[in-house]
Amino acid sequence: MHSHTMRSIPMGIEEVVALTGKPSGWIEVICGSMFSGKTEELIRRLRRAQIAKQKVAIFKPMIDVRYSEDHLVSHNKQRIPSIAVKKAADILNQVKDAHVLGVDEAQFFDNSLLDVCRELANSGRRVIVAGLDKDYRGNSFEPIPQLLCEAEYITKTLAICMKCGNPASYTQRISKSSERVLLGATDTYEARCRACFEPPEE
Ligand code: ZN
Repeated sequence: MHSHTMRSIPMGIEEVVALTGKPSGWIEVICGSMFSGKTEELIRRLRRAQIAKQKVAIFKPMIDVRYSEDHLVSHNKQRIPSIAVKKAADILNQVKDAHVLGVDEAQFFDNSLLDVCRELANSGRRVIVAGLDKDYRGNSFEPIPQLLCEAEYITKTLAICMKCGNPASYTQRISKSSERVLLGATDTYEARCRACFEPPEE
């Protein structure tokens, strides 16, 4: 037996499970603004599972094919194979025997993603969901709030404000469009802190 009584840092998720020895599913949510490293963090966790020979399946909404149709790609060009699905329910049909599931860009799915994640976690799987928690107006971006409520583990990633360098949790749209879903990267959006974020007038 290992002794963990002297630990001063919080235990990692995998370690907690190893200590209890009891298999159970759970939900992890990684959320934050654009440029906060959500996809990088998702890819990091999924890679660790693959290295441990766990079966992994990764999903993203079909709407998001900015970088690749069949890979998850972070802004810094890390990539991992993924399956593009039209709606959240399609995830259930494609999970097969995977034990660890990743879902990126969760804000582009409808609220049924909550039921899908719950069902998968209830079946003993590890579900890792990444997405924007706020839209470009600074309002909460469903279904992330509902997923945060359901999740066992929550990570809020912060970017760095592109105006002043403070920790940033807002996504500032630079272009004029008022579509809620507007795909883009550095030419369309900036990470902003609370002080520098300017909600659009409309
Ligand atoms: Zn700022």
